[in-house]
Amino acid sequence: MKDNKKKFHIITFGCQMNVADSEMIAGALMKLGYEKTDSKSEADLVLINTCAVRTKPEAKVYSHLGDLIKLKDVNPSLIVGICGCVAQKERENIIKRFPYVDLVFGPKSIGELPRLLELADKAVAKKLKILSEMKSQGNEKANLKMRRKLKGARIYGDFENTGDNLPEKDVARESSFKAYVTIMRGCNNFCSYCVVPYTRGREQSRPFDVILSEVRQLVESGYKEITLLGQNVNSYNGGGGETFADLLEKIDAIEGRFYVRFMTSHPKDLSDRLIDVMASARHVAPHIHLPFQSGSTRILELMNRKYTREHYLGLIDKIKSRIPGVTLTTDVIAGFAQETEEDFNDTVSLLNFVRFDSAFLFFYSEREGTAALSIPGAVPLETRLERLERLVKIQMDITFDINRSMAGEIHEGIVEAPAPKSKKELSIRTFDNHVVIARAPAAGIDFIGSFVKVKITEGFNFVLKGDIIEY
Ligand code: SF4
Repeated sequence: MKDNKKKFHIITFGCQMNVADSEMIAGALMKLGYEKTDSKSEADLVLINTCAVRTKPEAKVYSHLGDLIKLKDVNPSLIVGICGCVAQKERENIIKRFPYVDLVFGPKSIGELPRLLELADKAVAKKLKILSEMKSQGNEKANLKMRRKLKGARIYGDFENTGDNLPEKDVARESSFKAYVTIMRGCNNFCSYCVVPYTRGREQSRPFDVILSEVRQLVESGYKEITLLGQNVNSYNGGGGETFADLLEKIDAIEGRFYVRFMTSHPKDLSDRLIDVMASARHVAPHIHLPFQSGSTRILELMNRKYTREHYLGLIDKIKSRIPGVTLTTDVIAGFAQETEEDFNDTVSLLNFVRFDSAFLFFYSEREGTAALSIPGAVPLETRLERLERLVKIQMDITFDINRSMAGEIHEGIVEAPAPKSKKELSIRTFDNHVVIARAPAAGIDFIGSFVKVKITEGFNFVLKGDIIEY
């Protein structure tokens, strides 16, 4: 018997926040009676959930959109939608360049999906009618009129929506053991290079008790790793004066066997109390992702980061001295406007001094609509790329050194997936956020999602190798 349920397919770009949003969109669609499919060609609705933070993912979105027109040829009633940050930021461009996109909505209008889809269905039916009339008319003048009508047959979310009505409870989680919990949305920081405050709006924290009960329920239903998400989790405000440290402390008090991770932290808001909570926590992973972006206070000022090199280093010192075995990761931008060789050397020295376990390294790419565009003194692209290359080399050596020094250590972790290169091996993420590849200790057992103890045998550039010694 043919399954009459409508099917959806979501293509997700960007960070965990976007993955979490896609899970929420999937949940909302399932509630509307849709079924998920892994195949675009089987779908009645294809949504691209976009990321505008960097140029590369945005360009990828456009290339995907170009491909989708072929699907429309085969299935004219297919609804093609674009959502997320690019939709919010580039809606005018999308409309001009991709007339077959039926639905455009920003991250804050996910709660409107039922209404938007109903309208999109009607709009697609209207488009099909207009197209068939155009075919039968064959007359250029009449067709021009029809084309104008076609432009009107597109549905937009409310881009000014405050996001208060997000269907947070309807999340359809991809994993049965790892869960993302968005604790806040938006950002108030306006770093001069960043589009997020414009695309995701101002900070809005979810209520303290709601998050606590969501995490409790996840732990009770067997989730083993909970990641708390926000653009700047350290400025979380639970509504009754509760801070992120308070939230983490309460979550840590929940009984059960689980790990808690969080991201992203802003150095200006990471409090001493948070460090203390982490230091004595049972469930909170000893890992902090703390973007420093530049080692030069002058460049940090131009970036509007609101901290100095000294403040950042002081924070690292406190973190390392108070949280035993902590691992640190970061984000760095090479070649921001006015960055001299001296400024860049400050970044190099900070990287060498802190010795992060790993780092996300980027060269500065201008983003339309950001304040940084008006800063004079752009660094030539080849210099940005050359500086990035130097940073990559330095960080690879540091990571390699740290990984090699871990040989012989025993770590607890969760088996995340089969190893990418061998079906007989497993990929394990340790409590402190290292990835270890280890041979499956027994055949016929599904280890995915299980806690294991692993002994590190060898460290490489990007990964560690080990043996599972307890499962
Ligand atoms: S803290 Fe800065 S970089 Fe991070 S999202 Fe906010 S504005 Fe963007």
